[in-house]
Amino acid sequence: MKYDFIVVGGGVVGMSTARELAKAKLKVALIDKGELGQESSWAAGGILSSMRPWAESHASMMLSEKARQDFPDFVDELLSATGIDSEYRCNGLVMYGETDVVNTRDWANENKIIVEDIPADLNNELHLKNDALFLPKIAQIRPPYLIKALKQDLINRDVTILENSEVKAVTFSDNKFDAVKTDTNSLSAEGVIIASGAWSSHLCQYSGINLSEMIKPICGQMLCLQFDSKLPKPIILDGPHYLISRSDGHLLIGSSMEDTGFQKDTNNETKEALLNWARSIWQDIDDGKLVKHWAGLRPSNSAGRPFIGKIKGLEGVYINSGHFRKGILQSPSSAALLVDHILQRPTFTNIENYSV
Ligand SMILES: Cc1cc2nc3c(=O)[nH]c(=O)nc-3n(C[C@H](O)[C@H](O)[C@H](O)COP(=O)(O)OP(=O)(O)OC[C@H]3O[C@@H](n4cnc5c(N)ncnc54)[C@H](O)[C@@H]3O)c2cc1C
Repeated sequence: MKYDFIVVGGGVVGMSTARELAKAKLKVALIDKGELGQESSWAAGGILSSMRPWAESHASMMLSEKARQDFPDFVDELLSATGIDSEYRCNGLVMYGETDVVNTRDWANENKIIVEDIPADLNNELHLKNDALFLPKIAQIRPPYLIKALKQDLINRDVTILENSEVKAVTFSDNKFDAVKTDTNSLSAEGVIIASGAWSSHLCQYSGINLSEMIKPICGQMLCLQFDSKLPKPIILDGPHYLISRSDGHLLIGSSMEDTGFQKDTNNETKEALLNWARSIWQDIDDGKLVKHWAGLRPSNSAGRPFIGKIKGLEGVYINSGHFRKGILQSPSSAALLVDHILQRPTFTNIENYSV
């Protein structure tokens, strides 16, 4: 069977892209070397904001803003189509740490983002020694639930899903995309979209493009603790670290930033460092029971924004990759931008700003 598009990589970026193509009635196959969404996308905290919004490039900010506006409708559509709640919650974010606060206040003023003082009850619960501010409109989702909902929606839309199928080669004829090959399959299509997260440079090499110095894995470790007592509702962000509470008593403590190549092992040293940081913020941390400790590989991108668009010089080859710490947030807007471009529809920003 010949597809219109093959998407290589079934994280949130690949799944969202396949979904946009399927919504336009195209015939789509989505291939992953493992199960859908089990790499960086599963590992993420689900904060729907940049960690350092004042330092975000204009191109990245355009994607973040569009996604922030669209996320409520995106998760509502998924909920009504699948019955799966991605737990989108708008409980705000406390920004803590002296430099972050000063920069965030300036950024918020410039961008008309609402900033408030920390609610008094929260201020009493937390050890906020320095200045802090509260962004009440920042939301979060629960990535494993978003992945479940996306997968079910793709099934409902008749997207062909091939799991545990590693793409080992991409072939061309006269500079036009021909097929992707796994150990057991060869699939042809009019076009291919590389959405393979931290592994995207491996796939790009078949197109003669070396992205290994641009898109690189950066490992992040995370802890999940279970509490019986009340948790702080907003996200608490302090530089690279954060607390994210869930409605079922889970509290995430994130995250580390480590250059370990494609290794994603967890270790005790990082676990203790994350717990120590969390203790310095919230005195009740030791009441929690550690239920999980994991690591994921973020697709970092030295361009400071993702690559989205056609690979120049080749027919039918596209990329949607390199979202680093914002891929959950930017997945719906990146997918919309790429598919609008492919279908020559008007869109919200200039795709040339995301070229490789
Ligand atoms: C600890 C941590 C916390 C994070 N927190 C947040 C957050 O709060 N908010 C936020 O917006 N972002 C966050 N992120 C970043 C976010 O997770 C990523 O930007 C996003 O998941 C990237 O999605 P992706 O689909 O590009 O990559 P991935 O989810 O990694 O998916 C890529 C997929 O490609 C597949 N693949 C690779 N090679 C091949 C091949 N040859 N053949 C077939 N399939 C292949 C992989 O198996 C994988 O499933 C966090 C990341 C980590 C690790």
